[in-house]
Parts: sequence; structure tokens; C-alpha cells
Amino acid sequence: MEYGYSGLQRLFGGASHVCGMRNEQGRTIIDVMSLKTEDKCPSCGEISASIHSTYTREIQDTPIRNTETWIRVLVHKFNCVNPGCEVKVFTESLIFAGQNQVRTHELTLMALAVARTVGNETASQSLGALGIKISNDTITRIYAGLDFEDDPLIEEIGIDDVSNRKGQTYFTVIYDLNTHRLLALLEGRDVDSLKKWLRGHMKVRLVARDRASAYASAVSEILPGAVQVADRFHLIDNMLGYVKDIVKAALPNKIFISGGEVLENPPEKVASAPAVDPSLLSRMHYDNSPPVGEDGADIEFESVSSDISSPQYKAQAESRKAKQQLVELSILVDQNKHKDALNQPVVNRIAK
Ligand SMILES: [Zn+2]
Repeated sequence: MEYGYSGLQRLFGGASHVCGMRNEQGRTIIDVMSLKTEDKCPSCGEISASIHSTYTREIQDTPIRNTETWIRVLVHKFNCVNPGCEVKVFTESLIFAGQNQVRTHELTLMALAVARTVGNETASQSLGALGIKISNDTITRIYAGLDFEDDPLIEEIGIDDVSNRKGQTYFTVIYDLNTHRLLALLEGRDVDSLKKWLRGHMKVRLVARDRASAYASAVSEILPGAVQVADRFHLIDNMLGYVKDIVKAALPNKIFISGGEVLENPPEKVASAPAVDPSLLSRMHYDNSPPVGEDGADIEFESVSSDISSPQYKAQAESRKAKQQLVELSILVDQNKHKDALNQPVVNRIAK
């Protein structure tokens, strides 16, 4: 009989097999086994089916029912079969996490999505309440090195220039044309750093780029055999530019229309005195005197500042604290409730 974790299995695709799910010290653990029988060496690109060993990786995933959730995956190490490769043994790649990552791509994305609207410290606390264990420092680190996964064997790339928000600093961004994953971010728009990068990626045969001729000459120089194309955005941008030029050339600078008719010549200028309603002017009169109360006395401007030693502020702080404790308590209660459910007999199905 087919039973177990078919729904969960679907989330992992065909390359991994879900063996079971259980609760371990308040954490939900999904046991997964990789079914890959071969993989590509990250250094030379040679496919190897020679298994060296297996080992277990623990990778934190997005929480299930607000409980800290970890994927414990049994992965392979392969021997590189290319005698000329400097890598002898390599770890197989997973679709849900990078080579040395302890978090799934989805979890990283979730943390960044929260942290972009609040500070990293607040994000860490909020995510903690939702079942995600991630420190303030880790979020800062993720931001600092926004996962650029270089691939020296990449064949199809896109190159574009981007600037920071103020438009003062420019970068050259290089991405995988098929997956749109970022490969590198080079400072500036100069060709020297791009040439250096291209020299380390000699398998590139297709380059999508913008119109900047500097990029074009760099690609032609280092990779004369590579095909250069303009991506869709820049193609449309180019086309609109040409259409604009054609329309501009065909139309006069100014077109005069009067009563629905296009005039051959500009209309005669008619001098007229501007008519302004005098009541409008009197209404605009600016009075700099302070506002007056019902008793005829001036109303003083009072600056109400938040005084943290005031009884009102203290009461609010107390109430906030009490609310926070309540939330923490309810999370604990919630987790205990689910623990029993998860501790039911675990289905341990090993692929045969
Ligand atoms: Zn290799």
C-alpha cells in the first residue's frame, strides 16, 4: 500500500525521497534521502556516478505550523572521474540549498522579505516567534553577501549595469541567463573588471547585454566566438528609441490647433490683461499673528514630547511587556499541542 508523505514528497521533487517526519526537542525534522546516482563536478563539469561516501546535512526550512523545521538529508559525495581535475571528491548539489548553506533558499528569501521592512534585530525576533531560528548577525551577513553563486562552467549569461538608489555608484551585474541567478556583481561599469571575469569563464558562448558598447567590445575581445544578443527589455527599448526618432523627424516641432483645426501657421498673439478676482487676493493675505482662543487670549504652542519617565509611558511599556509574554506563552502551548501529534508512530520508508 502506498502511504506516508506523498504531499510532502511532491515538495521535494524526484531527486530526493522523504523517509519520515518527526518531532525532536520541539523541532520538526523531515528525514530526506537523496536519490541522485550521479552529479556534475563543480570544478571541471565532468559527470560522475562514482559514489565516495554518504553523510547527513541539516538544513533549516520554512516552518511548518510555526514550528522550527529542519530537513535532515542524506547526501552523497562523489569521486571526480576526471584525472586532470584538481578536485578528487565533491558533495552533490541540492535543489533547495546551496553547497555550504544551512538554510533553504526559501527560508533565506523569507528572512530577507521580513528584514527589508523592519530592522534586522526586529526581524530576527519576529521570525523567532514564527518558528524560524535566525540571528540578527546572520541576516546582516546574508544581506552583505547576497548569495552570488559563481559557476565557472556557465555557458549563457546576461550582463547589465545597475546603480545604487542615488545613482552615484554603478555596478556591472552578471547573471545566469536561464535561471536568472546572480553570478557576480562587479564594481563600476568599466570593461577591465568584466574582461577579468570573462577570462575565468571561457565556456561562455551566449551573452545577452544592454546597448553599452563597452561591454560588447570586452566580450568580443575575450570571447570572440561568443554570440552577443540584446535581451528583450533592451530590444524594445532600442526599438522605441528608433520609433521616437522617426516620429520626431516626420513631425514639426510645434503643431497649432485652433477649434479642432490644425493651423498652417502659428496663430497671431492676442494681448489681454490678466483678470484676477480681487477677493482671491484678500483671501491669500497671510497673517502671522498667533491663534486666539475663545477668551481672546493667544493660544501658546505646546510641544508634547514623549517623556519616557512619565507614568503614561511606563504603563504602556508594562502593557507591551505583558502582551509579549502572552504571545510567547501561547507559542509554547501551541508547540506542546503539536508535539503529541507529531510523536505518533513515524513512518520510516526507505526507498528500495
Ligand atoms: Zn572535477
